[in-house]
Amino acid sequence: MSTCANCSQDRAEPGLDLCPVCEEAMRWDEAVSHVREAKSAYDGLIDTPGVNVTFALSHINSLLTRYANGERTARLYDEMIHVE
Ligand SMILES: [Zn+2]
Repeated sequence: MSTCANCSQDRAEPGLDLCPVCEEAMRWDEAVSHVREAKSAYDGLIDTPGVNVTFALSHINSLLTRYANGERTARLYDEMIHVE
């Protein structure tokens, strides 16, 4: 028995971070499109004098890489929806 990483209930199946309820509640498609919108906004600022977007872009790229690698944790979801 393992616990859900989000609600801590003993509902998660072994090997899963989240129980089916929390998995359903997370809108990964929306989280990803939000991160991609932020990325394109930062991409447009790369050549703007006085704006340092390197840190933001590396953070965004690391989130997208984790998502692409199949990570579906509550922690990653939370980081993704808080990208600004
Ligand atoms: Zn849960």
